[in-house]
Amino acid sequence: MSSSTMPVGTMPVGGIRPYDGVQHPAELVVRNARIHTGDPARPAASAVAITDGVFTAVGDDATVAPHIGPATRVVDALGRRVIPGLNDSHLHVIRGGLNYLLELRWDGVRSLRTALRMLREQAERTPTGQWVRVVGGWTGEQFAEKRLPTVSELNAAAPDTPVFVLHLYQSAILNRAALEAVGFTRDSPNPPGGEIVRDFAGNPTGVLLAAPAAGLLYSTLAKGPILAPEDQLGSTRHYLRELNRFGITSAIDAAGGFQNFPDNYAAVTELAERGELTVRIAYHLFPQTAGQELDDLRRWIGMVSPGDGDAWLRCNGAGENLAWSPADFENFAEPRPQLTARAREDLDAAARLLLDNGWGFRLHATYDETIRQDLDVFEKIAADGGFPDGTRWLFDHAETVSQSSLDRIKALGGAVSVQNRMMFQGRAFIDRYGAERAATAPPIRAMRDTGLLVAAGTDATRVSSYNPWLSLAWLVTGRTVGDTLLYPAENRVDRSTALEMYTSAGAQLTGEADVKGTITEGKYGDLAVLSADYFSVVDEDIDRIEALVTVAGGKVVYAAGDYENIAAPLPEISPAWSPVARFGGFQAATDVRRTASGARQARAFVDAAADSEEQRAWREGRGDFERVPQVPHQVGGALDPLDGCF
Ligand SMILES: [Zn+2]
Repeated sequence: MSSSTMPVGTMPVGGIRPYDGVQHPAELVVRNARIHTGDPARPAASAVAITDGVFTAVGDDATVAPHIGPATRVVDALGRRVIPGLNDSHLHVIRGGLNYLLELRWDGVRSLRTALRMLREQAERTPTGQWVRVVGGWTGEQFAEKRLPTVSELNAAAPDTPVFVLHLYQSAILNRAALEAVGFTRDSPNPPGGEIVRDFAGNPTGVLLAAPAAGLLYSTLAKGPILAPEDQLGSTRHYLRELNRFGITSAIDAAGGFQNFPDNYAAVTELAERGELTVRIAYHLFPQTAGQELDDLRRWIGMVSPGDGDAWLRCNGAGENLAWSPADFENFAEPRPQLTARAREDLDAAARLLLDNGWGFRLHATYDETIRQDLDVFEKIAADGGFPDGTRWLFDHAETVSQSSLDRIKALGGAVSVQNRMMFQGRAFIDRYGAERAATAPPIRAMRDTGLLVAAGTDATRVSSYNPWLSLAWLVTGRTVGDTLLYPAENRVDRSTALEMYTSAGAQLTGEADVKGTITEGKYGDLAVLSADYFSVVDEDIDRIEALVTVAGGKVVYAAGDYENIAAPLPEISPAWSPVARFGGFQAATDVRRTASGARQARAFVDAAADSEEQRAWREGRGDFERVPQVPHQVGGALDPLDGCF
């Protein structure tokens, strides 16, 4: 637009002058951007205007100029890449939010030495009666040392403070103080599907194993203190902002154990009422008690219906469990669990109840054996006329799903959602099933080639990290966090497809494709200005991308670097001893371009500990150099109870 068409006498804003007479000015304009809209009708743009929370102009400076009034905030993207806000289609965001400020996150930490140093510091600043807990988002393979911490290392780092470290759905490592706090002794029996590892005298060592079910790990974690209700609100807000930090503006909650409706949904509900959600959440409902699933579902059907809610918080059906007995645990360090005879009946009863009441659902299923059995149940219901066309339903995970099952899912109108769990558990999978089977676990391309809707996500926070860029990198490169190649090119997707799986696919899963998922006039004004160009960085740098500005509904919900003061500040972190107050969340590598003053990631977190004298001495003391010349054998896999370290 030439300057002669601009009104005179107004201050330039981001290089464009506002019109005096604009009728309904935008609240936000982003310009000078390389915008990937995701909309085939207009794939690229350089400027957008957002008015009343929705995109009102997508184009260039000339297109947005008539929307700029004196109060319009104009963000100059300085030529940076802009994408639609990301949507994690399988995130335990509600539970993650309730606990975020209680957790020390090892997500992104590159050495065990650093991880233990963080633990030591946090133990020192944790008041008596509280725990230090590291709950998922990491694996030994990401550390330079390529191993898990030992109980004795936890004892050394935290002699008096209970420490609970959850490693995937495989194991938990407790220090001495935590064992005392939870009351495990030589007389404590192993629960079904779990093992309390013992020493030669029969005393618990501090290691708990999912064998294969994670119930023991979770019920032990649940013995720790929780946040006060008012701190749960703050915790959720800080967690949502941490998601905004990576460009997330939507998530589909998968519910989960210890996430009761409506009690544990109170925080997000209150934030929604106050207009303080910064991630749009579609939630699911997950029966909590074996044997009472139908009672739960019946009660909820009377309380809420799929689609209820608004643009920020809405019900999207039941799941990811509909009943306990059909659930298979994705612990690849253990053999596949055998479902009991009840599984079929329980699923049948729950699914019929839901379908009869017009409810869709999502269903957790890791293995093809489970999926085949589930499909038998669904097909029988369909044959009875009880599975209406247009029911919105999907399988979650589906790592070993077969082509014939994909065809059957397609025939029943289902979808799938995949997560980067293999990025964290891939080594264990390869150890058990071999590299050839790992190459299509999950068969991402076959799912798409079958014509299924395939949405992407993380399954955070207890297995994978919530950082979406790890998952996008996994889709594109097919590699684990330890850089093991899982997938050949034939089972990977290109960057634009991966992004579509992380944006518009999620919008389709919640029936919101008409209002979000792409940067299109009339859709929600959700976008992210990225720290580096997703479409041109080398593969190795995809997982280092962050947002510099994230916008949800026209509001700046996260801003860093050049933009750092334009997002409204959050309330102080409470409690003040929260690990997040000291360390933040995901630990970015040092060379990520963060210029924010006081950025918590500014510390040099990469210690090059792999070759450190400390680590060498540890391995030598352990006898590694005599026994196993390579890496310690529990890397990313089973914690062998006979391992001398445990
Ligand atoms: Zn699941």
